[in-house]
Amino acid sequence: MISESEIKELKAALSITAVAQRLGLSVANRRFRCFFPERHAHGDRTPSVSINEEKGYFRCFVCDNVKGDVISLVQIALGISFLEAVKWLKDDTPSIIRDSQKYSPSKNARSGQKKEEHPKFFREKMIFDFLSLLSPIPPNSAAGWWLAKRHIYKPTWDKVLLRLIDDYAHVSRELLAKHSLEDLQFAGLFNSQGNLRYGRHPLIIPYVDEMHRPFFFQARAIDKNIQPKELNFQGTIPFPYNKEALDGKFGTIYLCEGAIDTLTLLGNGFNAVGIPGVNSFKPEWVSLFSNKKVILCLDNDEAGRAGEERISALLKEAGLETHSFGLLPEGQDINSWLTSRS
Ligand SMILES: [Zn+2]
Repeated sequence: MISESEIKELKAALSITAVAQRLGLSVANRRFRCFFPERHAHGDRTPSVSINEEKGYFRCFVCDNVKGDVISLVQIALGISFLEAVKWLKDDTPSIIRDSQKYSPSKNARSGQKKEEHPKFFREKMIFDFLSLLSPIPPNSAAGWWLAKRHIYKPTWDKVLLRLIDDYAHVSRELLAKHSLEDLQFAGLFNSQGNLRYGRHPLIIPYVDEMHRPFFFQARAIDKNIQPKELNFQGTIPFPYNKEALDGKFGTIYLCEGAIDTLTLLGNGFNAVGIPGVNSFKPEWVSLFSNKKVILCLDNDEAGRAGEERISALLKEAGLETHSFGLLPEGQDINSWLTSRS
């Protein structure tokens, strides 16, 4: 169990701005866009959630229930429980603390300047260098079996460029040979202790654009005892998972929660894209869905149903047809449903 003093300590150690960034929220001028733009008269075009870094508090000017401390922020952003949010924060604490240095005025002026010149390019280069050190999934490996159990087979995992950290020490060494530890930590690949992250999350799921360029990734544990199951690369989530499917042509697309559900649907012959969490769909993504009929397949739980309502409202406002998948029994996700039927 987690004690109250531990929670206090955790909250004191973390910058709420850094946590918001880690969750993929774009914070500018101590503000970010609300999770529920449909409750806002103009879809929250001007960000209305403000952050009080000193007090570790956030609140939306419009929505009564969008406010709280750093733990509430994680709960709302990821649609998870209090305890899960505490676990998520504890696991990510070292790297979030390192991120926090970016928001304090005492940062190293030289290195800060260097990276602020081309922050986007720097981040993309780091992702590229990291992914190019990883191997494709070997069919007869624990990761291969883990995927097959979820109806995700070699043609699918080759197509979406899934990768495996099969030699953690080698990947770590190669990165350090190519980049300074400071840069690797700044990019979020290494933690504050100087180690490559993702040691317990070896399955790497890149978010690539239509030209197969990676802009983001998630790291997935394949051992079911590891919590959290997934770690996000730091910073903004640029677009939905499997963006390539959003090609502007007329057709149906299944929108699911998580990359693994997306891959299970792809493996079963459905055209699908994914969002990392129920609340991670961004209003600016709506235009990517043009000409698509969207079938929403978020988990059939309270958070998933609320998420579907929110996304559906955004898509409908843009004139798109949406339906709920509607076949999932209470408490199930696409994966548990499809794989339990065979
Ligand atoms: Zn709001």
